[in-house]
Order: sequence, then structure tokens, then C-alpha cells
Amino acid sequence: MSFSIPAEFSSRLKTLFGERCSDNASVREQHGHGESHHAVAPPDWVVFVESEADVVALVKLCDEFGVPMIPFGAGTSVEGQLQALHGGVSVGCSRMNRILAVEVNDLACVVEPGVTREQLNHHLRDTGLFFPVDPGANATIGGMVATSASGTTTIRYGGMKHNVMALRAVLANGDVVTTGSGARKSSAGFNLTELFTGSEGTLGIITQARLKLYGIPEAVVAARAQFPDVERAVRSVIDLIQSGVALARIELLDHNALRAVNRYCKTTYPESPTLFLEFHGTPAAVLEQAEMARMLCEEHEAAGWTQTDDETEKKRMWHARHNAYYAALAEVPGGKGWVTDVCVPVSRLADCIGETQADLRLEGLQIPIVGHVGDGNFHLLFSLKEGDGDALAQAQRINQRLIQRAHAVGGTCTGEHGIGVGKKAHLVVEKGAATVAVMRTIKQALDPKNLFNPGKIV
Ligand SMILES: Cc1cc2nc3c(=O)[nH]c(=O)nc-3n(C[C@H](O)[C@H](O)[C@H](O)COP(=O)(O)OP(=O)(O)OC[C@H]3O[C@@H](n4cnc5c(N)ncnc54)[C@H](O)[C@@H]3O)c2cc1C
Repeated sequence: MSFSIPAEFSSRLKTLFGERCSDNASVREQHGHGESHHAVAPPDWVVFVESEADVVALVKLCDEFGVPMIPFGAGTSVEGQLQALHGGVSVGCSRMNRILAVEVNDLACVVEPGVTREQLNHHLRDTGLFFPVDPGANATIGGMVATSASGTTTIRYGGMKHNVMALRAVLANGDVVTTGSGARKSSAGFNLTELFTGSEGTLGIITQARLKLYGIPEAVVAARAQFPDVERAVRSVIDLIQSGVALARIELLDHNALRAVNRYCKTTYPESPTLFLEFHGTPAAVLEQAEMARMLCEEHEAAGWTQTDDETEKKRMWHARHNAYYAALAEVPGGKGWVTDVCVPVSRLADCIGETQADLRLEGLQIPIVGHVGDGNFHLLFSLKEGDGDALAQAQRINQRLIQRAHAVGGTCTGEHGIGVGKKAHLVVEKGAATVAVMRTIKQALDPKNLFNPGKIV
């Protein structure tokens, strides 16, 4: 049910924001979806905020008229987080893109929410520091905080939950709260930084984030090896972790993913299950760690171990991995992405992927599988033709069984993409009604009129 926007609201919005607000159909359409199959639900207005004061003014106006607000970063989320299910205002944060401080001695920075991951690392390049969380897409920091994003380097550096030190956020009544501190640790009260990290725009609008930074490693070696089957690849990962090999990235692509990547990226990687690895450290340490990894992988019948410290070659390899999603989409002309996201204890990963592959075979499908396997997280990359109800129902059935499989071994329905609208029912199964009731109580306390991204998570 869409909220009907009062004429007085629109008039006051135009007075406040002038050309920075738009009800143009294509702008609204662009802000009514992310990167997924979920149906577009455009907001009534799009407002491009440029400062925290703008956000406060907008929130107070929306609160006065009871108008929903959906914060918008780069629009790369995949669980229907951006759909304006009840109409309202999309709060475009892309112009709040200032890097406010880089504190080299404290390995930290303070940024506005519209700063993108690539922009931040470009800015940091002369400091010898970098921000490591890499979800593949060039997402904004605000969106990455709000979805609790992680990615290929999480095994070494952690995801957003581990790398956000403090936040500023505007609440439903226009109050600005500060969470966390400049210190690396604190026991002062409830952990509101973690509460906002993963809140998907449902609790407030993030206006500032203090992030941890890391020294750019002196040496980086990338490697890859192919395996006779996924099980042996994953068993290698478990051995590598248990042996304490210092991995900075370890990613799995199965044979279907490699085939799609080869077609899309014009590469010639052998089309069998492959681990892509990276090691960070001193020149001697990375070579030692890579050698240990090679020996362990070869104990599991890995073949074709290839390692390189050449920049171009490393870029080519990770470009292929980061394009796996678009490669999978391209397998079905005009296909839309439908991505699963379970995460399980690493010791159960081989069984979980093996059973999922058997399920796909029974359904007669060849769906690419990619995984941040060091974290126990993997994705099936479905590409569905718009309007193909049978294919959608089949993907939903497979995902339902996949999530049941993950839950049965103590895992989760989402390792990194969030709940949005796509996984609301699974959240209740996973956490139980009592836990979801606590989440709802928090939501009601902070946003009593349910104006922040209504219809998402709980
Ligand atoms: C090819 C591809 C690969 C991907 N790989 C990964 C991956 O490996 N790991 C991973 O974690 N994700 C991955 N994703 C998903 C996506 O990149 C993340 O969800 C990303 O963190 C979203 O950031 P964004 O700036 O695009 O936010 P948006 O999509 O614009 O918004 C996402 C959510 O954040 C909220 N939000 C945005 N800004 C704010 C703010 N200032 N305050 C409060 N809430 C806000 C929105 O309301 C929404 O609920 C991938 C996506 C694609 C397309």
C-alpha cells in the first residue's frame, strides 16, 4: 500500500531542496531498485542530500508528514533493500562524498556515507594505507555499513562489522547520535555501532563513519589451482585454515562459474573447480605461505598451481573473479540476477556445497557457484529471464532447500547480502520468533512511526 504524499509536503520539500529533489519518472525508477530480480518499486520523490544538516531537515519534514524514507547509496544491494514498498522519499547519499579525515598514525579515517570504496582507496594511495573490505561492486561506505558487507578479503581483515569504529546517524525525530569512539576498543554501554551495521536503513540515516585502515602490504602474491572436484578444493581450504596459513583471500569458482567467466572475460582458465588465493606480507613471508599452500593443495590433488606477483596478472585474475556475477548473468540473454547467500561453519562447507550440487543436477541445472570459502560463504548465481515464473519458482525451491541445509548445520541464510524483503521469512526461521521480536522492539523504539525503509528486515 503506497503512502499518499500531501501537496504541502511536496511544496515544502521543493522549498528546502530546490533542484536537489526530483519526481522525474526515470530518476524515481532508478532509485526504486537495486541489482536484483526484485520488482521495481519507485519512491515518490528522490532527494540528493549534501550534508548532515540536509538529512536532519529532510527527516524532520518526513516525520512531520509521516512520509517513509529509504536511504540510497550506490544501488548495488541484491535483496530488494531499496524498493519503496510504501512510496515516500529515496534519500540519495551519493553527494555526501567527502573524506573528512585520514589519521595515518591511528590507522583510521572519517568519511561521509556517499564515499565509495574505490574513491577511498584512490584517496589513500599515497599514505601507504588502504581500506580492505571489498564486496566486488563499487558500493558506498554508507551502503556497506548498512548491509554489513564483506567480501574477498574478509578472511584476513574482517567485514564491515569488524572495521567500523564509530558512526553518526540521524534518528527519526531528527536527533543526531554518535556511536563508538576514536579508540580501538571500548566497553562503554550498548554497542550501537554494531546495531546500525546491518540495519539496512531501517533505524536511521548514517551520516558519518570512522573506519579502520591497514598498511598496504609490502608484497602480494596471487595464486590459483584447479581440483578434480569441489569437495577436494574445500577440503584444502579447511586444511589451510587449520594449518594457520596466512591467507588474505581464498575464493572458489566451480566449473560452471569458470565456463561463464571464460566466455565473458575472454579468458582460458581450465574449466574445473578452482581456488583463487592471495597472500599479503613481507616478500619472504608471502613466498613461504604460498609454498605451504601449494603443498597442502597438492595433497588434495590440486593441479596447475600458478602463482604471480606481477600486477597485471594479479589484476586479470581478480577481474575474472569480480566479473563472475556478470558472467553468470550473460549466460541467459537479458537475464536478471538471483543470488543465494548461505554461510556455514567451514567444516560443513564441503558437504553443503556437495549436496547443493546434487540438488542442482536433479533439477537439471548448471548454475555457477562462487564462494568466499574461507568464511564458509558461497553463492549460486541464477540468471532468470524477466517474467519466467517457472524458472523463478525453481530457483526459490532450490534456495529454500539450500537455506534449510545451512540452518541444519548451524549456518545462516545470509552471510553478507542482508535480509531486505527477500529473506524476511528465513530470518524468523533462523533466529526464532522471540529474537525477531527483540529486533522489532528496537525498531519501534527508534522509529515509532515506521518511516525508515518500512517493510524491510522485520
Ligand atoms: C556484482 C556484485 C557483487 C557483489 N558482491 C558482494 C560481496 O562480495 N559481498 C557483499 O557484502 N555484498 C556484495 N554485493 C552486494 C552489494 O554490493 C552490497 O550490498 C553493498 O554493500 C551495498 O552498498 P550500496 O552503496 O550499493 O548500497 P545500496 O544498495 O544503495 O543500499 C543498500 C542498503 O543500505 C541502506 N543505506 C544506504 N546508504 C545508507 C545510509 N547512508 N544510511 C543508512 N542506510 C543506508 C539502503 O537503504 C539499503 O537498505 C554485490 C553486488 C553486486 C552487484
